[in-house]
Amino acid sequence: PELFAPERPNSKGFDLHHTPTLDRIDIARDAFHAHHWNSRPLLSGDAHPEADEPVFNPAQPQDHLGSVAAASPTDIELALASACPWDANAATRAKILNNAADLYEANHGELFALLAREAGKSLPDAVAELREAVDFLRYYAANIPAAKPAGIFTCISPWNFPLAIFTGQISAALATGNAVLAAPAPQTPLIAHRAVQLMHEAGVPRDALQLLPGGPKVGAALTSDERVSGVAFTGSTATALKIRAAMAQNMRPGTPLIAETGGLNAMIVDSTALPEQAVQSIIESAFQSAGQRCSALRCLYLQEDIAEDVLTMLQGAMDALLVGDPWLISTDCGPVIDAQARQGIADHVAKARTEGRVLKELSTPPEGTFIAPTLIEIPGISTLEREVFGPVLHVARFKAQEIDRVIADINATGYGLTFGLHTRIDDRVQHVTEAIHAGNIYVNRNQIGAIVGSQPFGGEGLSGTGPKAGGPNYMTRFCAPDRQASSE
Ligand code: GLU
Repeated sequence: PELFAPERPNSKGFDLHHTPTLDRIDIARDAFHAHHWNSRPLLSGDAHPEADEPVFNPAQPQDHLGSVAAASPTDIELALASACPWDANAATRAKILNNAADLYEANHGELFALLAREAGKSLPDAVAELREAVDFLRYYAANIPAAKPAGIFTCISPWNFPLAIFTGQISAALATGNAVLAAPAPQTPLIAHRAVQLMHEAGVPRDALQLLPGGPKVGAALTSDERVSGVAFTGSTATALKIRAAMAQNMRPGTPLIAETGGLNAMIVDSTALPEQAVQSIIESAFQSAGQRCSALRCLYLQEDIAEDVLTMLQGAMDALLVGDPWLISTDCGPVIDAQARQGIADHVAKARTEGRVLKELSTPPEGTFIAPTLIEIPGISTLEREVFGPVLHVARFKAQEIDRVIADINATGYGLTFGLHTRIDDRVQHVTEAIHAGNIYVNRNQIGAIVGSQPFGGEGLSGTGPKAGGPNYMTRFCAPDRQASSE
């Protein structure tokens, strides 16, 4: 396999085991404990948005943390008409994107507060997310290909990484000199607004980067207009298929769609695995970010001989998870994003409960959109009808001689995002990693948190179109296909 050496160091992030660092973060973040933010269209000219709507904290329904004013049809037209590819040379674009990375780091207190209050992110998740956003900015700035931009790019980002993926898509499109029309997830418009303000402050021109909050209506308009030369989308497979159909109908043939979508991710733990290491990896992969990562572990396969022991340890480790308000530094698992998400997950757990398949379920705080980390026994991955996007882990058992059938069942889901393997048999590592269809395969560790530059992230099949984000091929998809740059 190819390995990619980052051409610039990744951000150091923040060491949360270092008490003075933690205290400094606390002080920086506390200034925004009761802050009120606004999100509105940020256009190259004046905006004429829809009426303000309140934004609430998923962990605390009474915390009204801001307002969002959606882009109107007039705003969408103004943005499309004024979007102007970024004509600064590559070195200038790189410098400005690095400035933006510095500004993100300097404003960490506010960004951590927003990530907790708007997106329900625990502090470790928020720290990892800021770090990833900064790494995207610096990685794309350091690796600009010598090619012309495609033109105008629509970037539609998800609520589960409202800073990192939002910034990743935009910075790749901007680094290559495109104009960006950014349509953030409707659940997290405040973070998007603050991020775009920081990019403008860093020097990105307003006609090269415009923000259009408003969710699906805005996304639909920006993926069916001939003036758009490419779309970057991260979200559900179903939405990606709708976007593809709208693009095929309304846009020029060959307009690129870069989609990162869902997964039904599995992990195989065989009888030679180190149980403590496997359990730690399982807990992180299934329950960090309240399971709201497309990379998260959904179906764990345990070899029969060790299944009882690992399940006992796993349930003990689940007992140690603290579920609660992400503002508290001790919280491991925050809320799911909204009431609709909670209902969908709760229905799935309720069905498993009536079938007597729930092995373990923690309790949740009384208010807020929480789902307790839950462990459900199933016969195999083929019984899962859909990706359940929350802290719900399914477990199945297999016998040694069944491993090829397990691999076939995992591949048969049609998804191919992440996969984890715990074993100490070298031949098995070779065999399983060659046979599994997944974009990111992890051995003897967790299967989340891909690092920009070292672990390009993206899937195959129903999980995405490629190329992988944070990798060497990503930016070429944002460039015009056949004209090479002459002067950069
Ligand atoms: N890149 C993230 C990870 O490796 C997941 C991205 C997503 O959930 O969309 O965990």
